[in-house]
Amino acid sequence: MAKMIASEYCNEVVQDSFRIHGGYGYSKEYEIERLYREAAFMLIGEGTSDIQKMIIGRALLKDCKL
Ligand SMILES: Cc1cc2nc3c(=O)[nH]c(=O)nc-3n(C[C@H](O)[C@H](O)[C@H](O)COP(=O)(O)OP(=O)(O)OC[C@H]3O[C@@H](n4cnc5c(N)ncnc54)[C@H](O)[C@@H]3O)c2cc1C
Repeated sequence: MAKMIASEYCNEVVQDSFRIHGGYGYSKEYEIERLYREAAFMLIGEGTSDIQKMIIGRALLKDCKL
């Protein structure tokens, strides 16, 4: 749950920051260029958010015995 929520918020914050930087967001002179690439990977690496949601959903259903 922590991995999924942290990855989603990280991506949201980086996307906002990327927009604020405008065209400079694409320039390797600025840290935001790296963050933009790496934040996207957080949603994929070690289990995509979609798969995480499925795992969390299954665990909650098991706990609630639905
Ligand atoms: C730069 C890089 C470094 C990596 N390093 C490592 C590493 O060090 N160790 C390691 O173990 N792996 C590593 N990986 C692999 C990474 O963990 C996988 O890419 C990731 O788990 C996604 O798997 P996949 O690429 O097979 O995508 P897929 O599983 O094919 O997924 C493609 C899309 O379909 C969706 N999807 C798939 N199945 C379902 C489903 N049942 N329900 C709903 N949606 C679904 C996914 O959410 C995703 O959006 C690395 C990948 C990259 C790109």
